[in-house]
Amino acid sequence: MTKAVTDPYQRPLRDLRISVTDRCHFRCTYCMPRERFGDDHPFLPERDLLTFGEIGRLARLFASLGVRNIHLTGGEPLLRRDLDELIRRLAAVDGIEDIALTTNGHLLHHHARRLYEAGLRRVNISLDALDPDIFGRMNGRGIGPERILANIDLAREIGFEVKVNMVVQRGVNEGEIIPMAEYFRKRGITLRFIEFMDVGNDIGWSREKVVTKREMLELLGRAHELKPEGRSRCGEVAEYYRYVNSGGRIGFITSVSESFCSTCTRARLSSDGKLFTCLFASEGFDLRAMLRGGASDDEIREAVVRVWTRRTDRYSDERAALAGLRRRKVDMSYIGG
Ligand code: SAM
Repeated sequence: MTKAVTDPYQRPLRDLRISVTDRCHFRCTYCMPRERFGDDHPFLPERDLLTFGEIGRLARLFASLGVRNIHLTGGEPLLRRDLDELIRRLAAVDGIEDIALTTNGHLLHHHARRLYEAGLRRVNISLDALDPDIFGRMNGRGIGPERILANIDLAREIGFEVKVNMVVQRGVNEGEIIPMAEYFRKRGITLRFIEFMDVGNDIGWSREKVVTKREMLELLGRAHELKPEGRSRCGEVAEYYRYVNSGGRIGFITSVSESFCSTCTRARLSSDGKLFTCLFASEGFDLRAMLRGGASDDEIREAVVRVWTRRTDRYSDERAALAGLRRRKVDMSYIGG
């Protein structure tokens, strides 16, 4: 039976984001800059990653505490071998209503059909520009957008619900806002603009580089009338707007200009099994040690409840004050974006 578990701000535990690997073959400047993630970067050895059996067990325990939505991410989740096998396990967990995957889409053609057959229905594909030079610079590998665009089409053909995520940085790709919006509007694909966040470390973040939702709306509103739709459910990260004339939607993830900590129902599991209660956290709770130390289901459940009921994170609400403290945060590729 499901016991509702809430934190001191009455936020229930509803969503679990699971990082299945800390590795990625992109070196996006705002996430895994090449200077820090070079060839000699000490990624986690395979033995440190949670096995699919361990992830499946945790998913079942989290579901028994109220989690309904699971999101797989990384690093680049498609680099984890046999990911369809994990999807199959998660799809069989009682209480889980929705499973989604966030990917850079570059390798999707190798995996899409098997993932669909295993039960995955939603993919969020990250793409920051249509312009090959801009995109190549942003992903740090000179990779063009063509294959990713083809994979977006492929994913739709197979039957996935597809959303596209674009991180917008002033002075880098704000000129791509309109071309990207038009490209995906014409195809009826929801494009979500993500405000550049100060997640992780040494990503060159500053408030000046953030293009806010308000600025983007102003720009997009010149070409199309947009009607606010709000969030599709409590705990949803994006706020949506519908094109009045052509249908279709765009979304905004506004962690910087309009924080949404008060409705944050997300727990995060790093690829080595640490439980985090905020994307901007510094430390996690080691669930892998419990799993591998022989803890019972009840003991693990109790530990999760203890962590969640003490959760006071509101980083984005408190950004101005906390950023000044200059504490080291965990990298997004490790905790899972
Ligand atoms: N590799 C996968 C991908 O590219 O989607 C999944 C992991 S990635 C960390 C998840 C999402 O976080 C991507 O949409 C990425 O653009 C976003 N992201 C990473 N760093 C960010 C930052 N500093 N600000 C805003 N979004 C960021």
